[in-house]
This record gives sequence, structure tokens and C-alpha cells, in this order.
Amino acid sequence: MRPLKRSTGARSSFPVPSHFGGWAPGRGADVVVVGAGIIGAACADELAAAGLDTVVVDRTGIGAGTTGAGEGNILVSDKEPGPELALALLSRALWQRFGAELAAGSVPGTESLHRRRLGDPSTGPGDSGIALEAKGGLVVATGADGLAGLHQLAASQRAAGVVAEPVGPDRARALEPQLTPDLAGGVHYPQDMQVQPVLAAATLLRRARANGARLVTGRPVTGFGRDRTGRITSVRTPAGAIATRYVVNAAGLGAREVAALAGVHLPIQPRRGFILVTEPLPPMIRGKVYDAAYVADVASDDRTLQTSTVVEATDGGTILIGASRERVGLDPALRVDVLARLARQAIRLFPALTGVRAIRAYRGFRPYSPDHLPVIGADPDVAGLLHAAGHEGAGIGLAPATGLLIRQMVTGVTPELDPAPFRPGRPALRRVAVPAPTRAAPNGPGGVR
Ligand SMILES: Cc1cc2nc3c(=O)[nH]c(=O)nc-3n(C[C@H](O)[C@H](O)[C@H](O)COP(=O)(O)OP(=O)(O)OC[C@H]3O[C@@H](n4cnc5c(N)ncnc54)[C@H](O)[C@@H]3O)c2cc1C
Repeated sequence: MRPLKRSTGARSSFPVPSHFGGWAPGRGADVVVVGAGIIGAACADELAAAGLDTVVVDRTGIGAGTTGAGEGNILVSDKEPGPELALALLSRALWQRFGAELAAGSVPGTESLHRRRLGDPSTGPGDSGIALEAKGGLVVATGADGLAGLHQLAASQRAAGVVAEPVGPDRARALEPQLTPDLAGGVHYPQDMQVQPVLAAATLLRRARANGARLVTGRPVTGFGRDRTGRITSVRTPAGAIATRYVVNAAGLGAREVAALAGVHLPIQPRRGFILVTEPLPPMIRGKVYDAAYVADVASDDRTLQTSTVVEATDGGTILIGASRERVGLDPALRVDVLARLARQAIRLFPALTGVRAIRAYRGFRPYSPDHLPVIGADPDVAGLLHAAGHEGAGIGLAPATGLLIRQMVTGVTPELDPAPFRPGRPALRRVAVPAPTRAAPNGPGGVR
């Protein structure tokens, strides 16, 4: 791929795009990022920081896709050694750096937010403003078999650089006093973090805009202009075209459709998940706690319903209870039986939740690829097109490293880690024939109150 050099400030002399709401800049772009979810935001942040003239186009708005329907965990604990764990470790370090910069007030575009936090006693100077917290994770097993598997996984993760501390039942209950005494033991992962995903996406886009990026919302990308060699030259929307040299397809569940506009097969599919939210409670859960079955569920290829227990508190005192996984296309139905199962499983880990009221539920669709690895990199068949999609249940955690890889690929810098396992066009992606989703269903609150 021909890399782009850092912009010198001279703007491209592309044709004037027709009109985009209040946006009519009279010029094209170096890169158009399709999608203003967490992945598009992280890509735009990195590309704009590299001095590239970047435009982000979203058919809806910031965080309107799956990003607005997730929990915001930044996990290393649930990943087996391999390329995804390497990406997660890099990403975690980048999240930590971003949080420290925000807390120090040194992130361009966020100065006014920082000043407001300084004057607010409930937040204060050390606050990142995106609820980024290294709260740690505790994975527990109730039986000896589960514990043996957990210890085996932890040993392999330690060899890959993860801090994973086996804990007995007493230590587990010292970390989480409300845990059931009926435990075989667990593993503590102090590196696990959490962030508020929509705030994080909006804040990354603030920095991108401070670095010159432009954001166009409420406009779908409907096609691409190509030159005689097939190279992408522009992005089409109902409001006009934006001339560009590169397109980053960060359209989440829409990535398959966006790829198809360029004649490319990208088998990203939805994996439905529900989250149950309790009424606000006094502090009773300190970190994130999940059962040993969760890791197997995340990696599973089973099409049918899977539920493992994931419990954590939010700043507001509500407790989030997950997690279900189902491959049912874009079926928007909210299943009360699944929510009841999640609640029962959570009570088994935390008996003190008995009698607590659930106030609502969320439903979202994780964008997954056939081999459960994200698709990051240049399309092998269409020059100028890159993909950053298919992060399934880990897109919030993996976003900053994805953005960095995309920046390094576009600018021709050696990537921070080997991007080969994520490459578009890998055999696992080419093999799969995927039926088109038949029903459009927005992510978001599912309506259970
Ligand atoms: C229940 C649940 C819990 C989760 N929990 C976690 C968690 O704890 N930690 C974690 O890391 N991940 C979690 N995830 C996964 C995470 O939310 C996703 O991996 C991530 O949000 C994907 O981000 P994205 O930017 O790729 O997609 P999206 O957020 O869906 O963004 C894609 C954007 O592209 C836009 N778009 C689509 N098509 C077009 C088009 N043609 N033109 C213009 N714009 C277009 C959409 O409007 C959308 O805004 C969870 C997911 C679910 C469902």
C-alpha cells in the first residue's frame, strides 16, 4: 500500500463536495473514516494526530451503534495468549496513557471539560472524564474442574505478560466481601479496566477535531468513486461526495454492507447480547467479577444461547449483570427468560442481590468475524480501502491499538505489533458465505423497565 506522508498543511485540491448539513468545507480529505463508534473514533484520533486531513462520516451519530450498548470493559483476563491478547495489552497501555493525559488536562479539545472538572468537587483534578478506572477483574470458579482450567489459562497468560494472581476463597472474599462462600477459588487480574464507551468515543473525536478532523453525522455512506485502476477516489453520501485517498471502514455491524459497496466480501455478523441493570445500590461490588465459563463462551462457536455470569458496579451505584451471547441475526426481541437466567446466575455469585430490583435492560449486537479476530488492515483487492471492524465483544478495549495500527499502515510506519493475524482477506474470512441480515434493529435500551 502506498503510504500517505504527514500533511504539510497544504490542502488537497479536490472538487467541492455538495453540502453536508452545516459542513461545506470546499475540499476533500486524505482519509474518510466510515463510522463514529469507538473504533472509528480511535482511528480518526490517530489519523488526525498524524497530520492527515480526516473526515468521519456516520449515518447516525457518535456511539449510536454497538458502542452505545456495551459495558466498557477493557479486559486482558478473558483472552487466551495469541494475537488478540497482544492487541489487548497494547490497547490497555494506550487507554491508560489517554486517561493520564485527560486527568492532567493535556488533551487538545478537552480543555473546557477539564476546567469544569477542576471546579466540580465530585470529580476533581485526577479524573479522566471518561470514567476510566483500573478496577481489576476477579474470575471465580465454584468447582475444582473449573478452577484447574482457570489456573491453566492464568499460567499461559502470565507467560504472555498478563498479571494473573491465583486466589483462594478467602482472598477472593477479601477482594469482594459479598461473594458467595461457596467458591473453589479464582484468579485476580489487577490490569482489567473499565471506561464509559460513548464518553470515550466522543472524547477521542474531540481530540481528533482539535487536530483538524471533521465530523459528518446523519449521512450514510452509499458508495465509492473509483479510478480506472479500481482505486478508491471518493466516498458517496446522499448529500454529495467527498474526494479522498483512503477510506477506513469502521462501520461496526454495517462494515459488511460498506465493504459490499466496494465489491468486497467481509463476513461480519451480529452476536446478540443482553445486559440487566439494577436499581442504584450502596457499594457492594468493587471490581468486575465473572465466572470461569465466560472465557469459553466468548471464544465459542456455538450458535445457541450462552449465558455466563458477569457482574460489576457502575459509578452511579447500579449493577450491570451480563452476559448472554446468541447468533440470531438482527432479531431485536428482548428475551425475559434470558434476563431471568442472568439474574439467577448473578444471585448465585452474589447472594446479596436477592430481592434487588432490575430497572432496565440493554440489548446490543456484537460485530463478529468467523475466527473471532478483528479485521484490521488494507483490503487486498481494493486499493485505498482499509477495514477496522469485527471486534465482537472487545471493541471498546481494543479500540486504541486498532487506531494506532491503522495510522501506522496508512502512514507507512512499521506497525507496533504484527498485523498479519488481523489482515482482511485471510482464509477464514474468504471461506464463509454469510446470509444478509434481514431485519434492521438498532442497538440500545431494550425496553424492560
Ligand atoms: C451487550 C454488549 C456488551 C459489550 N461489552 C463490551 C465490553 O465490556 N468491552 C468491550 O471492549 N466491548 C464490549 N462490547 C463490544 C463493543 O461494544 C463493540 O465491539 C464495539 O462497540 C464496536 O465498535 P464499532 O465502532 O466497531 O461499531 P459501532 O459502535 O457499531 O459503530 C459503527 C458506526 O458505523 C456507523 N455506520 C454503519 N454503517 C454506516 C454507513 N453505511 N455509513 C455511515 N455510517 C455507518 C453506525 O451508525 C455506527 O455509529 C459489548 C457489546 C455488547 C452488545
